[in-house]
Amino acid sequence: MNGPSLAERLAEVDDRIGDAAREAGRRADELTRIVVTKFHPASLVRELAELGVRDMGENRHQEASAKAAELRDLGLTWHFVGQLQSKKARAAREYARVIHSVDRDSLVTALRSDDAVPLDCFVQLNLTDDPARGGAAADELLPIAERVLGTPGLRLLGVMAVAPLEVEPRRAFAEVRGYAERLRGIAPEADRISMGMSQDFREAVLEGATHLRIGTAITGKRPERG
Ligand SMILES: *Cc1c(COP(=O)(O)O)cnc(C)c1O
Repeated sequence: MNGPSLAERLAEVDDRIGDAAREAGRRADELTRIVVTKFHPASLVRELAELGVRDMGENRHQEASAKAAELRDLGLTWHFVGQLQSKKARAAREYARVIHSVDRDSLVTALRSDDAVPLDCFVQLNLTDDPARGGAAADELLPIAERVLGTPGLRLLGVMAVAPLEVEPRRAFAEVRGYAERLRGIAPEADRISMGMSQDFREAVLEGATHLRIGTAITGKRPERG
């Protein structure tokens, strides 16, 4: 039984991103489509690179670090999208160009560096009441953002969020857009929004997402974690 190929799934998602951008009156080329390759082997990342994908997303430090090392020759841009322990922060800087999941002061401090090239950061918002989901509570967004702004070696891009399962995605993303506006009140350049996954990227584009994190719609079902 043969389903669509990786190339076909990628092309289909990109078409749908283009449709959503048109619907929103936005340009598709202002969107960064990140392919989340977690659980998948480095060989799949290589195939994606051959199809022209440059931005890859991972959510576990150990796995990300191993893949980035194995694929160093490809010069990919790695986005770290998962919860990050402060003690792994320095090591994550070695391969990640962007951290989407900055959610507490201790992590900001741990990411500090004297590198000439700044590390791009999103402050992750938790839209649920469950602290285990990762992300900062809404009232911590601006204080954490200020901390990023005041920390050498970091550049604040904007806000990141995952739509909670129990909420209609468009509503959740509209809420994120509101927080993003408040963030721009203190940091006008931090105007990016990382939101939208396989099931809800259209709604995210309609609400102003600039960075889409798309996994299974492109990669197919994730293998079981070993
Ligand atoms: C896995 C993951 C994604 C991609 O999810 P899909 O539903 O497979 O598109 C996006 N963002 C984060 C934070 C993830 O952990």
